[in-house]
Amino acid sequence: METLSDDDVLHRFLLEHAGVRGVLVRLGPAWRDVAGRADYPPALRALLGEALAASALLTGNIKLDGALSIELKSTGPLRMLFAECNDGGRLRGLARWSEPLPDVLELCAMPGAIMAITIGQVERGRRYQGLVDLHHAGLAEALENYFVQSEQLPARIVLASDGMHAVGLMLQKMPDEGGRDAVRDDDAWNRILHLTATLDATELLASAPTQLLYRLYHEESVRLFEPRALAFGCSCSRERVASMLHSLGRDEVEAALLARDDEIEVICEFCAQRYHFDRVDAEHLLSNNAAPAPSGTTQ
Ligand SMILES: [Zn+2]
Repeated sequence: METLSDDDVLHRFLLEHAGVRGVLVRLGPAWRDVAGRADYPPALRALLGEALAASALLTGNIKLDGALSIELKSTGPLRMLFAECNDGGRLRGLARWSEPLPDVLELCAMPGAIMAITIGQVERGRRYQGLVDLHHAGLAEALENYFVQSEQLPARIVLASDGMHAVGLMLQKMPDEGGRDAVRDDDAWNRILHLTATLDATELLASAPTQLLYRLYHEESVRLFEPRALAFGCSCSRERVASMLHSLGRDEVEAALLARDDEIEVICEFCAQRYHFDRVDAEHLLSNNAAPAPSGTTQ
């Protein structure tokens, strides 16, 4: 039976004898919070869920300072998709599209598609960004390929999502250590891939994390690390919105004030938080050359 702690959780594990490390992410309420914010067509909802699970998955084996985001843009009907997990385990995501959206969304078939993975503190300019090669149809394959290229280590990624859950499993072959038998390592890696290939989306979505790892790898020695809690959460703030308005410039801000009774309302697309700025606030943020940080309360 599934318990509450089986959802919104990230498990790191080690298949010690095989020399493989892994991450398993299972999202429940956090995913439903993101999925419920727009009336997403099924194919897009599925891709957004996979991207959200993947954003957490990719934080599993790195020392994250800031956030990790996966962003897809295209000139086709899927205009934009964004998923992010920060160093506190807070997840958010959204997608924008226009109709008609195809029933099947293949990355390699999207016109003008670009996918970037950004890691770090974007606002402070401390960030790393890498582009994902989009010759694959599915997100899991594309990310697998990205990992192999960026870390020079074989990786296997499995992603699945439905209306209730978004789940991701990532396996990485660990670097060969001196004196180890490379052939034996390859055998072990292939054995793990075979075991993992017995997993389908239905089982991935239906199983509690520890049950799933036991079912797949019980003949390996699985070492589980302390799980990390995940949750929906948005990093928006009045300061960030003020900074965004500042960057738009005086003309745009004046126009926005005129359009709505001398008040600007900004609604966060991720969490629906509303921010209000009157003319005095606007003058303050426009006259401030540095990153403005008005101390007003949010409404
Ligand atoms: Zn927000």
